[in-house]
Amino acid sequence: MAETIFSEMSRLAAENDAINLGQGFPDTPGPREVVDAAVAAMHKGWNQYPPAVGIPSLRHAIADHQRRWYGLDVAADGGVVVCSGASEALSSAMIGLLSPGDEVIALEPYYDLYGATAALLGATLVPVRIHAPDYALDASALRAAVTERTKMIVLNTPHNPTGAVLSRDELQSIADIAIEHDLIVLSDEVYEHLVFDDNVHVPIATLPGMFERTITVGSGGKTFSVTGWKIGWATGPADLVATVLGVKQWFSFAAGTPLQHGIATGLELPDDRLAHLADDLARKRDLLTDGLRELGLEVFHSKATYFVTADVAPLGVTDSLEFCRSLPERVGVAAVPNQVFHASPVGVETQVRFACCKRDEILADALLRLRKL
Ligand code: PMP
Ligand code: GLN
Repeated sequence: MAETIFSEMSRLAAENDAINLGQGFPDTPGPREVVDAAVAAMHKGWNQYPPAVGIPSLRHAIADHQRRWYGLDVAADGGVVVCSGASEALSSAMIGLLSPGDEVIALEPYYDLYGATAALLGATLVPVRIHAPDYALDASALRAAVTERTKMIVLNTPHNPTGAVLSRDELQSIADIAIEHDLIVLSDEVYEHLVFDDNVHVPIATLPGMFERTITVGSGGKTFSVTGWKIGWATGPADLVATVLGVKQWFSFAAGTPLQHGIATGLELPDDRLAHLADDLARKRDLLTDGLRELGLEVFHSKATYFVTADVAPLGVTDSLEFCRSLPERVGVAAVPNQVFHASPVGVETQVRFACCKRDEILADALLRLRKL
């Protein structure tokens, strides 16, 4: 399989000493308590294999978090599996629940892992596009995409790369279709705490009749700015979670013990600490959005996540992939072309995703460099 766009752009950034606004990772440390808890766990000697399903304290912290934040009744024993990042939870769920020839619907643009995993297992990803500038769900297009081979809908809200947040009404139309056609929903909610302004994240599992057919995926890396730790999880009803565990035990078996202790501590931080994690990021979103607009670009409003999408056509660009491949060498900035999140680039040939999760001075420097274009 080809190198992922994130590896490619981070490699080009390193080779050209460029500012990396491609792969989404923050450049500041996460909450002190989270890092301290992981270090303390190492010093206590908690460095051996954890249970494949995850250490009890983290499973309890995840279940408790789902209850406190969303009123979801998740069982710490049986309803949670800790994985090596949300990535492993997502791919294990798809591999466990889909067979070759099955169809899985994803809102397009979609995170590249869904398409790659579908291809690896011989399933077909059927894209249903949401369009700039407001990325509203077209429920009739979603309904029309369902066939007798459809088994699953993969959702991602808050949404990478657009920064869209699905509304309760949109989620209800998805739920109606899932229930009517007896589909499983795999809900990728890794950006659940990185939501700006008055926007509200609603897990689809909270809608009537949805918990029993939904696997919800979270990521400690995203929530606590420690993307390199790769601690994620899946929650849901016991039968679906058992399927994820059944597959993931043959991949990583288990994820790093001390890092699980760190994330458990993070999830137990007071709710207002979690609620304010996104404040600083919202300001950075504004900094980057305003700066890109000053360069004459159309920038689509991002309601959440690490990302902002801009249309670079005013710079004379016709192919964002080519543009992003040359950008690190030309001006010393890396970014990601949105077309890699699409089955077909038609209509999004000039859209580029920039990460805003960087220190202010780094964003300012990147904007200065982009001025040279
Ligand atoms: N889903 C989405 C939408 C993502 O952007 C990412 C990237 N971080 C992941 C899943 C993977 O998360 P993790 O790093 O926890 O594997
Ligand atoms: N989720 C991150 C992004 O969208 C990348 C993760 C990865 O490198 N696989 O930038």
